[in-house]
Amino acid sequence: MVETPHFIGFDIGGSNIRAEVLDSHGCPLQLRTSLRRALPGASETAQGQAFEGIPEAGGPHRLPPPEGRLPEAVMGIVEEMTASAGEEISSRIAAVGVGCAGLIGRDGVVLASPNIPGFKGVPLRALLAERLGRRVALDNDATAAAVAEASLGAAAGASDAVFLTLGTGIGAAVMTDGAIRRGSHNLAGEAGHMIFERGGRPCGCGGRGCWEQSASGTALGRLARGRAEAGGWESLRALGGGQTKGIRAEHVTMLARSGDRVACDLLGEFAENVAVGVNNLVAMLDPEVVVMGGGLFAEAEAGGFLLSRLKVALEGMLSYGRRRPAVALRRAELGDRAGAIGAALLARDQPGAD
Ligand SMILES: [Zn+2]
Repeated sequence: MVETPHFIGFDIGGSNIRAEVLDSHGCPLQLRTSLRRALPGASETAQGQAFEGIPEAGGPHRLPPPEGRLPEAVMGIVEEMTASAGEEISSRIAAVGVGCAGLIGRDGVVLASPNIPGFKGVPLRALLAERLGRRVALDNDATAAAVAEASLGAAAGASDAVFLTLGTGIGAAVMTDGAIRRGSHNLAGEAGHMIFERGGRPCGCGGRGCWEQSASGTALGRLARGRAEAGGWESLRALGGGQTKGIRAEHVTMLARSGDRVACDLLGEFAENVAVGVNNLVAMLDPEVVVMGGGLFAEAEAGGFLLSRLKVALEGMLSYGRRRPAVALRRAELGDRAGAIGAALLARDQPGAD
């Protein structure tokens, strides 16, 4: 019997690495081992730290010291996880896909990664291909997640879609005419860095007032902590364990669902911030569906509640209002597995694949 090829996909985020194995039909395998590892030094990574400019790409197969230790550690984990899928599966893996947070050039070089400071000018695709002895596809993590949602999730069957992930920042990708758009340098889809407020909060990209500074999960948490610090709002403080710093974005949704007036107002304000960017993307791209993902949308009831607030906010501002066909807003369906599944699909579908 000829063994069918399998494909493994990795999602390298700011704090951990997770993996999914797909068979040749694109079906995720149920593995007994949990394929998730913490990224070493994740707690030391400076979230939102400004990029120190985009460096020139390093030469092939050469790690730029001293930051080379982090790519080395990441590669070690990827190698170990590929083996940990088990001999029977590992021997079938024909290609490896990697979705990585940050700017990924067409040549497979990580130009910069806001939450993984060691990833600057790292030729990750070439390094991994040499280390693993397999073909490697490398792309931005939001692009990988969009590929998964477009193939197996909330945008399956659609040809024009926008994918947004509200988390630490805002991950985004665009599909038109059935193809994910990458731009001239593979840097398309950085919707989180569209300017929302000129001269506003500094952003990890080096700019100011970017959309993700007002409409990401991080932004909602910050808005809530600010409101709590201003005084009162004991119900929110209690959810944060009695301390302002324990307050998270999800707590606002939780309180708003229970009818808390301050939480409802704050969530409405946040939904308007999100809707401004969504409106602009809809005006520009005319998608049939906008897929909303990330922690705030992960849980069905809380995510559905926030989505309903977003729909109301969007209806109130959508360019041309009811004169244009409605845009479907949907929750992402693959949750935090999307990035790794999409990376495996990229590995399967890359040019030159078997
Ligand atoms: Zn920015």
